[in-house]
Amino acid sequence: MSGNALVDPSNPSLRSWVSGASDADGDFPIQNLPYGTLDGGPAVRIGNRALCLRDALDAGLFVKKLSSNDDFLMALDVAWLNGLAELEPEQLKMLRWNLAHFFAEGSPLRKQVEPLLRDADAAAEDAPFVVGDYTDFYASLHHATNVGSMFRPTNPLLPNWKHVPIGYHGRGSSIVPSGTGVTRPHGQTVTSDDGPPSFGPTKLLDYELEVGFFVGRGNELGTTIPVADAWNHIFGFVLVNDWSARDVQKWEYQPLGPFLAKNFATTVSPWVVTREALEPYRVPGPPRTVDDPKVLAYLDDPNGCNLDVTLEVFISSATMRAQGLASTLISRASFRDMFWTPAQMLAHHASNGCNMQAGDLLASGTVSGTTKDSRGCLLERTWRGAEPITLGDGSERKFLLDGDEVIMRGYCVKAGLPRIGFGECRGIVLPAKS
Ligand code: CA
Repeated sequence: MSGNALVDPSNPSLRSWVSGASDADGDFPIQNLPYGTLDGGPAVRIGNRALCLRDALDAGLFVKKLSSNDDFLMALDVAWLNGLAELEPEQLKMLRWNLAHFFAEGSPLRKQVEPLLRDADAAAEDAPFVVGDYTDFYASLHHATNVGSMFRPTNPLLPNWKHVPIGYHGRGSSIVPSGTGVTRPHGQTVTSDDGPPSFGPTKLLDYELEVGFFVGRGNELGTTIPVADAWNHIFGFVLVNDWSARDVQKWEYQPLGPFLAKNFATTVSPWVVTREALEPYRVPGPPRTVDDPKVLAYLDDPNGCNLDVTLEVFISSATMRAQGLASTLISRASFRDMFWTPAQMLAHHASNGCNMQAGDLLASGTVSGTTKDSRGCLLERTWRGAEPITLGDGSERKFLLDGDEVIMRGYCVKAGLPRIGFGECRGIVLPAKS
């Protein structure tokens, strides 16, 4: 192993020999190096290619400090990223820098690494983590205000909202990888506010554009994660589609919040973008006005930051795909506009001594901005169906129809830095089962 076996991937001028890694509009330059699962084990993506970490280990490519580390070896034996996420920050940094050495232009290891590379798209068959617990927040002020004003016109934002990051416990077992079909769910719905309900397929199926993050190192039951340290407990970020049945939600959400309207499927993008790769895109946050209440001390993050991630949603109908038409852009928003930060969400979640575990998924809630075209779900975008949108095939949508494909994309751009992307989070709506 040569003396320069560790290369800092955050160097913006670093280039790679891997195909697609240096495309200006690509998501996966050498500065990104997201992790996913491929062929039953952890893998890293660069450009259009992926490398199974086990293959690199078997070829003797890792530096000795890693290849002789028991925790690292055990992590590679786990089929998902749950083991990798628990590694100490120094080990993860060494891994990341070692991988950058593999892929850097002029690397002496190119001849050994190149034959090991695989098609990155194969990874989408697996979700990156076995998710023990999934929690979904409600952290966008614009989304909460819009939705609140539809359901409670005189009282859109409840008095707790600016004090406490609101969330609900979702369901880990129904988290699915990008590309999985989503069957239109059945549920109880009503035609008048007081019922009586009937049971059948939802008529108001919606998506929610969200960013999720996986917990790395957790905390023991009865202990907490201080907000100033919370960022360091985050392993990485993905795109999340929190599929929602609005008619079911409306009838069931009081008094305990969402339940069957949400837990029939949640789609995640396959490649987990590490917090290290996103460091250059941290921005001061959250945006608050002088009228906003001061947050309680346990949520007051001295390093408080949001992430400047541009998020987009597209819809493609079955007709559009058959005709070869491009999908239609429905909205574009920024994750930097969130009122509550990822660190605040994680610190709050653990603030009562709740034990967070490696691979737990925390999602942000729908990301919406101030303008109509930055609203992150159809409920808001069509204002509950009052303002339908038109797709590329001329058809109108108030909510999703069978055959519609929802495609989410996310990326970071900043002058002088390569674009860092999240890839795609996709799902096609399948007809209800009879
Ligand atoms: Ca949600």
